[in-house]
Order: sequence, then C-alpha cells, then structure tokens
Amino acid sequence: MELSYHPFLLEYKHPFGVSGHTRTQTQSVFTKIVWDGFVGYGEACLPPYLGETLEDTIAFLDKVKPFLKEQSYPCSIAELTLEIDALDEKSNAAKASIDIALHDLKGKIEGNSVRELYKLNPAENTHTACTIGIDTEEKIKQKIDEAKDFTILKIKAGTDDDKKLVQTIRKYSNKPLYVDVNRGWKEKNKALELTNWFKEQNVVLIEQPFPVEQLDDSAWLTERSPLPIIADESIKRLSDIKKIKGAFSGVNIKLMKCTGLSEAFQMIELCKAFELKIFLGCMAESSCGTSAMAQFISCADYIDLDAPCLLKNDPFRGIIYSQGKVVLNDKPGIGVTTELF
Ligand code: MG
Repeated sequence: MELSYHPFLLEYKHPFGVSGHTRTQTQSVFTKIVWDGFVGYGEACLPPYLGETLEDTIAFLDKVKPFLKEQSYPCSIAELTLEIDALDEKSNAAKASIDIALHDLKGKIEGNSVRELYKLNPAENTHTACTIGIDTEEKIKQKIDEAKDFTILKIKAGTDDDKKLVQTIRKYSNKPLYVDVNRGWKEKNKALELTNWFKEQNVVLIEQPFPVEQLDDSAWLTERSPLPIIADESIKRLSDIKKIKGAFSGVNIKLMKCTGLSEAFQMIELCKAFELKIFLGCMAESSCGTSAMAQFISCADYIDLDAPCLLKNDPFRGIIYSQGKVVLNDKPGIGVTTELF
C-alpha cells in the first residue's frame, strides 16, 4: 500500500486590532502550519524598534510557503529552521513564527509539550516580572496597584533621573525590581554609583545599561557591579554571545530576536557553558509567543513574560498567571488554543 504524502501548509493572518497593545503600538502576524489534520501556531511580533516591517514579514512568509510545501513529517525542526534561516539575512520575527508553529505542530503530532520534546524538568520557580511603564506618579501608583498579584516588578529606566524613578516606585512598593536601562546610560562612573545605590533599594538586576557600542564600559561595570548586568540589545542571536563574553553577567533571550525556539535553546546551552545568567524575555507577544517561550522556563534564572497581561485583545489562550507565577498547562505543543484561524 502506498502512503499518501502530506506537505506542510503555511498560512498567516495579520488581524487588525489585535495589535492594540496598551503601552506600545506593536503588530503581530500569526502563522499556522497544517500537516495531515494537525495544526501548529506561531507568532511574529513586530515592535518598531526591532526594525522588521509588516510588509517584509509577509514577503518572507510568502517565500517560505513553497519551501515548506516540499517538507513533511517526520523531520528535524533544527535542520529545517537552519535552511529557512539561510533564505534571508533578516526577518528574525518571521523566522520565529515558523519555528514556533513547527514546534507546536510536532508536539501535537507526537502528543507531547515542547518542554517534553526538549526533555526538560518541570520548573520550580516561575515568578515573572511585571513591567511598570514610566508615567506620572499617580499613574505609576495605579500601575503598581494593578500589578498587586505579581511578586517582581520591572521598570524601563534610562531617564535623566533614574534615582528619582526608583524612589517613586519605592514609595508604593518594596518588591524586588528589575531595572531595564534600555541603553540609557552613557557614563560608567555614574552608572556604577547608581548601581550601588540600586542594590540598597532591592533592585535585582540591571538590563542593558549602555548603548551597544559601549561594550568596554559594560565590561568595566560588570566587573565592579554588585548586581548582575544583563545584555538585551547587545545580543540578538547565538553567534552574538561569544562577542560579549566578560562584558555582561547574563543574556535576555527573546524568540523574536533569535529566530525561535531552536536557536533559543542553543543560546540557553551556551549561556550555561559560559556561566551566564539566563533571562527569558519577550517583545509584546500574545499568549501564542509567550506560551512558546514559557516552555523553556525551567532553564531560566530570571523571567519576564508578562506581555499578554498588557494586551487588550489577545487572540490566543495559553499560559496563565497566578500569584505572580507563569503557569503552563498540559496541552501538547506550545499549549495554546485560538479561534483566530
Ligand atoms: Mg530590555
């Protein structure tokens, strides 16, 4: 008897309005890959600072469609994503959307969650930070109240007066704080002074203190800092990790930067080998992209996966939040459901 051949069929949707992030204007393109009745979902989240446009993302997905049509299960996702990566130099978010959908699909075909595919243990500590945007003192107080279930807060600093910002937060909350400087500091001595003061204020870590090109200053600060210094904009992909060795204490890994779960897992492994802290982050993904990243949560030292909490209209259901923790379900793949497609 001849077995029938089932190709991978890729579709995508860019639902208008789903992009209505409450704090930034970010768009997402959602992908769906079908194989023999099984369906995998993925997401390309496109915040403006990532520099990937909707048009380019859609053009890349159209380019991958015929390639995927020639592929079928069983296959190695790692090998497939390497071939897809070679089709274009950029389009990291689009690549991530395909990688996530392939992982979801494979998990569903095999009846396993992605964390089971990677043979990961259940996570013990899944507390995520909740971001409090810079605002008026009244609004900051309101946002802290809204985040009452969360055990860790995060602020986007790099303002003219970060000390004042932290003092304002401390008027209303003493919870552990992640400070994302977003490349906002320029002078290393001042940076060290602030970092020492932050340490006394129950700040847990500093993210990306300097612009990417100030790698020497970052190394100088990391050597002296009482707090871990985490790289975000300085590291997009696996190949970047070797370049920053010694300049940071850890890496913020995001699926939209690194082309998806295949490469994110390799980054985790390399960080472990280099004794770098592992920070799992996200852009403004819905429950689709964040549920994918949450599959690796047991590998993380720090977690920042609160994006769905800030979304007005999340088209997916997946991870949930309980008492500040990310809670995964037992569904196969990345563990999401949707009525979007
Ligand atoms: Mg950051």
